[in-house]
Amino acid sequence: MVDLHTHSTASDGTFRPSELVYLAKKEGLKALALTDHDTTAGLKEAYEVSLEEGLPFLCGIEISVKFDGPGHFHLLGYFMSPELTPLEETLRALQDARKRRNELMIEKLRALGVEITLSELEEIAQGEIGRPHFARLLVEKGYVKTPDEAFEKYLRKGAPAYVPKALLTPEEAISSIYKAGGIPVLAHPVTLKLNRKELSHYLEELKELGIRGIEVYYSEHTGEFTSFLLSEVKRLGLIPTGGSDFHGANKPDIKLGRGFGNLRVPEECFQSLKRELEMF
Ligand code: AMP
Ligand code: FE
Ligand code: FE
Ligand code: ZN
Repeated sequence: MVDLHTHSTASDGTFRPSELVYLAKKEGLKALALTDHDTTAGLKEAYEVSLEEGLPFLCGIEISVKFDGPGHFHLLGYFMSPELTPLEETLRALQDARKRRNELMIEKLRALGVEITLSELEEIAQGEIGRPHFARLLVEKGYVKTPDEAFEKYLRKGAPAYVPKALLTPEEAISSIYKAGGIPVLAHPVTLKLNRKELSHYLEELKELGIRGIEVYYSEHTGEFTSFLLSEVKRLGLIPTGGSDFHGANKPDIKLGRGFGNLRVPEECFQSLKRELEMF
């Protein structure tokens, strides 16, 4: 078993990059990838510790992408090395936009009678600040009882303190991954919220745009959906990948490598990605 979709304190996870590597070893995983949202800041640390620990490792990223459909589109990128200068230039623009968005959300919350400050968020976040940090702070300050309630009442898309994020188009995100020597993979297709016919069609479009893999194995995919995606990767000649989307205490029900309990990501997923990267 391997886990190719995880988050660290560099984005909205609660484990440091090095701690993720130690945990992966302890859990007996055969390989790990770190895929923080919009930042490469955790990769060097995880990469170096994975070398020391002898754990096969891939550097990764998860980028939110513009999508006109009902759900949301996240793109994963996988790389051999943590030196990703061309990608970092693109990400810096996203990070600047995130800072402005965070300030706007703080203002909207204030107008709703919720008093929080940027420095309080910075204490919680350690890395890039996102809505899960807002949710935790709202719990800590007693405005809501749980992070879920914070999303429901204030932070989810459509809720009163929500501010949309600046997004790349799929073309921009895919090309920024290629420019940095990486492989673009569609994350958790379930969140696109398309029916099977629409999804089949969209996967064909994404293949045309240069996508090379699909996250077939995922915590929130049913067995039936997983089988459907497996037939789609075969049909389209894409690489099947998989991961839990581990966030530590920010998604407490999801376990590294196991998801909600019965996730199994075959080692072959890691090897296929690695072979493809080595051919670059
Ligand atoms: P952001 O990038 O700041 O928009 O935050 C996105 C992150 O918030 C996702 O990766 C999830 O971890 C979390 N998230 C988004 N929507 C919800 C929700 N309805 N309930 C709980 N967590 C959520
Ligand atoms: Fe997240
Ligand atoms: Fe995601
Ligand atoms: Zn994720």
